[in-house]
Amino acid sequence: MPCSDALCRGFCRHCGSVHSLAVDPAIAEAQKLMQLLDAHKQIDFDGQTINPEKICTDFLYGEARGKMFGVLVCEKTDGEQLTIKAFSGQYNGLWDVVGWVPPLFDVHDFWQLLNPIEKKIKELGRRLENMADGSTEQGRVKQLRKELSQTLMKKIHELYRLHNFKKQQCSLTDLFPQKQGIPTGTGDCCAPKLLNYAARNQLKPIGLAEFYWGKSNRSATRSQGIFYPACTSKCGPILGFLLCGIKEL
Ligand SMILES: [Zn+2]
Ligand SMILES: [Zn+2]
Repeated sequence: MPCSDALCRGFCRHCGSVHSLAVDPAIAEAQKLMQLLDAHKQIDFDGQTINPEKICTDFLYGEARGKMFGVLVCEKTDGEQLTIKAFSGQYNGLWDVVGWVPPLFDVHDFWQLLNPIEKKIKELGRRLENMADGSTEQGRVKQLRKELSQTLMKKIHELYRLHNFKKQQCSLTDLFPQKQGIPTGTGDCCAPKLLNYAARNQLKPIGLAEFYWGKSNRSATRSQGIFYPACTSKCGPILGFLLCGIKEL
């Protein structure tokens, strides 16, 4: 696939136009990252992590399979070039790894919210195992578990703060129509993580490239070392906002 097709773009409701960011200026840096992953066999290239057992690239070739990685080449206010990097979602249960940009929410708040509710959901799951199929009791507990999961998702989405290059902020719910659900994992792809970090740290984006690394996904639509455009279902609705103000810098 020609690299220039792997564009990062989105419609901005505020400007009524499409904002986009080139991929070509980031290709060489992405290839450097591939070489580092290959050479180090883990994702902490400076040896500073507190979770050395969790950051091996072996993880990408097992049950969990591979994932997307991304780089954003940007310019600091003094004109110096800088490359920042991201992995999509969590890496083997970790949101934060030294040298990689953080997610769009406070990680401490995330675990504070998740842990107690997840514990309750698991407890309900265990209770369900001992109930007669089709019983009223089972139906009631199933409904309770469903409601708890939905509330948890909603609260998790509320933790996300998106920043753009016009110094504006918004939440995920601001960008998705009320009736349309927010897909799981929205905001966790590399492009939103990288753009959000750049916007918060006065970095001017020049190029963004995303590639897959590890064992192919189950549907075999992703292969190691190949560049892919930003996804349409999760990133499509939020990239317009995140890229807004990019040229005015
Ligand atoms: Zn995406
Ligand atoms: Zn705009």
